[in-house]
Amino acid sequence: MQMGKTKAQTSASDLADKFQSLLQQIIEDSTINLPWVDYLSKISKTLIEFSRCDAIELQLEKEKRDSCELIRRTKKSFHFDIISCTHDRAKEDIYKSIAVIPIKVGNHKVGHLQLMSRKENFFTKDEMALYENFILPLGLVLSNQRSQAALRERVKELTCLYGIAQAVEKPGTSLDDILESTVNLIPPAWQYPEITQGRITLNGQCYATPGFKAGPYKQTADIVVKGKKRGSIEVVYREKKQNIDEGPFLEEERHLINTMARELALIIDRKHSELEEQKLQAQLRHADRLATIGQLASGVAHELNEPLTNILGFAQLAQKDPQLPQQPQQDMEKIINASLHAREIVKKLLIFSRQMPTRKVKTNLNELIKDGIYFLESRCKKEGIEVVCSYAPDLPEIIVDQAQLTQVLINLAVNAIQAMPGGGKLEISTHTAGEHVSLVIEDTGAGMDKEILDQIFLPFFTTKDVGEGTGLGLSVVHGIVTSHGGSITVDSKVGMGTTFEIRLPKIETIESIAAEVE
Ligand code: ADP
Ligand code: MG
Repeated sequence: MQMGKTKAQTSASDLADKFQSLLQQIIEDSTINLPWVDYLSKISKTLIEFSRCDAIELQLEKEKRDSCELIRRTKKSFHFDIISCTHDRAKEDIYKSIAVIPIKVGNHKVGHLQLMSRKENFFTKDEMALYENFILPLGLVLSNQRSQAALRERVKELTCLYGIAQAVEKPGTSLDDILESTVNLIPPAWQYPEITQGRITLNGQCYATPGFKAGPYKQTADIVVKGKKRGSIEVVYREKKQNIDEGPFLEEERHLINTMARELALIIDRKHSELEEQKLQAQLRHADRLATIGQLASGVAHELNEPLTNILGFAQLAQKDPQLPQQPQQDMEKIINASLHAREIVKKLLIFSRQMPTRKVKTNLNELIKDGIYFLESRCKKEGIEVVCSYAPDLPEIIVDQAQLTQVLINLAVNAIQAMPGGGKLEISTHTAGEHVSLVIEDTGAGMDKEILDQIFLPFFTTKDVGEGTGLGLSVVHGIVTSHGGSITVDSKVGMGTTFEIRLPKIETIESIAAEVE
């Protein structure tokens, strides 16, 4: 212990020992993996305590940059700054003794250590010689420590990006899953994981680390998909930390958050196109299937048509025979009714496969609905269903087969009524939008799940009991709407209700397409 002696009295060998243990202390400090600035704070503390100076300054050149890190420590304060290497600071003349020792790695000067004291002649010659010896290992330790800290940051960065890649690779992961795991990769990738929180916002939806709270120490990057801002990534420090490159954040962390945002934008874009493609393919498959079934149905219908006509014709002929006893007479009646029913089905199949001749005339859709709904109103009243109609004023006329379009209305309305056995509300409305006129039929009935929705246009698909439904209603609607160059969409929620929208082209649209074809 040197307690009793003054600085000057310390013997030369004691001094050498002290420098030896200082070096040991500094090497020991280097074995704990601290963030770079925290490490500098610790080293400078050890140095100021050792030197008993009033202030020390450590200036270190940054790699590949014409800037320096400036560390100032007095007994009470620690200050870290990044300055330009040529920066000329105002001299402070409160210090009477100043020692400047260049720090070198090999032959290359990488900075300097400046020791300052208010006392005059504070440094002895022996002491200075020892400082100069000591500075060489200090330079090596510092540069090694800096490379290690940089390496650790790089590993964190790569681990984070690898984590995102892994989340994407997992088969069957949704975008939700990916964003959820990405946000949890944020804390370990930043310098102070224990105080780091992350949040990703996408189209107004948030994914955040537990207990996320916005705060002043934060870094953000926008997620820009196809030139449009869709969300952002935020990283927040819960506590104040020493300012480094961008507030308390490293330049490398700015780079990482930007890379993450770009990476996520690509993933989001890819996921969206995948979904679009799936939807398109499903639509194509559906259209394709309906077309195939249409061909099949029309084949069967034509085949059945002839024998049916024969059965009906001969049955009617036989029934006319006055000598026919009563029993066969009644049987004939049944044969005729059954054949008529079968012919009705054949007719519907032919409509579905668009094989029925049509007679299209200019029509006002509003008028057609008013006439058609007339038949349904009394039935609705009986079943406790409120019918609300709203007609778009100035609805342009369309060219349609009126009987067929009435059939569309009736089929959709009957389905709606059947879906509301306990009463409800049936809304029928017309609209005009863009190149189309549309008819919307909305009910507050049972609704449908996806499995049913996928099949409703297939001929003979029904969920109803025998006698209540043949499963041809919507097939017929589909056939009619398609043969009019229109389209049909459904929106349904189980327990809430169903909305069908039929869109038919305006006359001008048909004419302009015809003109283009010519
Ligand atoms: P059907 O009415 O003879 O069963 P459709 O082709 O008209 O045949 O309808 C097929 C199926 O679609 C119905 O059995 C029913 O399950 C479902 N569906 C159609 N319209 C509605 C609706 N408005 N609400 C609930 N389900 C409906
Ligand atoms: Mg039906």
